[in-house]
Amino acid sequence: MTTEIISFNLGVTSCYLIIGREIVMVDAGMPNKLQLFKKILSKHKIDPLRIKLIVLTHSHFDHCGSARDIRDFTGAKIAIHESEIECVEHDKVLIPKGVNLKGKITQPLIFFFKIPFPKFTPDILLKNDPYPLSEFGIDGQIIHTPGHTIGSLSVILNSGEAFVGCMAHNGFPFRLKPGLPIYAQDIGAIKETWKALIDRGITFAYPGHGKAFPIEVIKNQLKYPSTN
Ligand SMILES: [Zn+2]
Ligand SMILES: [Zn+2]
Repeated sequence: MTTEIISFNLGVTSCYLIIGREIVMVDAGMPNKLQLFKKILSKHKIDPLRIKLIVLTHSHFDHCGSARDIRDFTGAKIAIHESEIECVEHDKVLIPKGVNLKGKITQPLIFFFKIPFPKFTPDILLKNDPYPLSEFGIDGQIIHTPGHTIGSLSVILNSGEAFVGCMAHNGFPFRLKPGLPIYAQDIGAIKETWKALIDRGITFAYPGHGKAFPIEVIKNQLKYPSTN
């Protein structure tokens, strides 16, 4: 099965369409982006009804902001990890810590003002087991990749691409170059998760903010696998 990947921004967030027989969307961007999303679909001549699943990598406002609107428009189902349901149904926010100096300085600005987004009840609650995408004609799966938040998810394709949400940041407003995120509930867990992805043979990472980059960037940051 061949897949095509379309990358686009909804606000500061990088979102993706993975096109197989059907389409799986990764993340739903900032709030109030439905009109922009419609324009992006038109530009690529994509029938919205082909989008069957919206995978939310985690429950922060910049990834779930337009999820309800996009679900209403496309009829797609929304999947999120079961541990983050309260954050999309109600006002709970999982507050990550700043990882580096910039993260520590900017973290209060971003996370202490709860930016509102339309709340919703997810259709699919994922547990820690992998969730295959074969029913959509896509060779890949959704896996639990905790660290940025406790219930963070990634979509990995058998061809080596990984859609990792905020397991990585690349570019404005967070980082100038690709690398580990500047906010995380548990940066140690993120590093272990990255090592597992490297061991699985992932070759390319599609982050939650910024452009895709080769896995060598993370290998170099983590010095993994060790060259000694
Ligand atoms: Zn986040
Ligand atoms: Zn984010």
